[in-house]
Amino acid sequence: MSAEDLECGTYAAYQRHIKRGERPDTKCRKAAAEYSRRRRQNPEVRRRQVAQDTARTRALSRLAKMHPAQYRVLYEEEWAITASRLDPDTAREQDQTPTPERGTTTT
Ligand SMILES: [Zn+2]
Repeated sequence: MSAEDLECGTYAAYQRHIKRGERPDTKCRKAAAEYSRRRRQNPEVRRRQVAQDTARTRALSRLAKMHPAQYRVLYEEEWAITASRLDPDTAREQDQTPTPERGTTTT
């Protein structure tokens, strides 16, 4: 079966949408969510994910300290995108740019 033949409603079809730059339909989004949910239940996957999240957070914190101005610009761009998905009241409450000094400590 080629990627072209995939029917919607599977994780593979979801990936095909992403690869094509398409917005996945509801069936494919549900399939991907279920795939991720099952995957996270695997203790080894979960342990590895926590370790990767820790490494990512620490690396971002170090990068922010190395390039604070660029970090602030990128953060504000990303915040504008993510805040627009929240309800307007929540977005206003949380609209504070964290400084690179806050958060995870680096050693
Ligand atoms: Zn689909």
